[in-house]
Amino acid sequence: MPAGCAKCGSERVAAAVPLDGSKGLLAQLRARVCADCGYTELFADNAMGVYLASRPATEAPVGPAANLQCPRCGSTIPAAASSCDLCGWTQETAR
Ligand SMILES: [Zn+2]
Ligand SMILES: [Zn+2]
Repeated sequence: MPAGCAKCGSERVAAAVPLDGSKGLLAQLRARVCADCGYTELFADNAMGVYLASRPATEAPVGPAANLQCPRCGSTIPAAASSCDLCGWTQETAR
């Protein structure tokens, strides 16, 4: 994450301003607000969770076909795949 304002370069930036949301996706967003130019960026505490939760339900596969999360590296892998391309984890070795 850059230290200063991406717009004007100011170092006076509020780094993690909570948004007005006690639950839902809004509660997972944090704002960086520049004190000098007002430029505001939004960041998500749990970006993958926001991405998964924001997808339309009709796109999500039903039942056991839902995506899995790799228990070793945390990346999302398709349920059809029994291994993680990133770290090499496989369901077989986990049993
Ligand atoms: Zn600025
Ligand atoms: Zn992995």
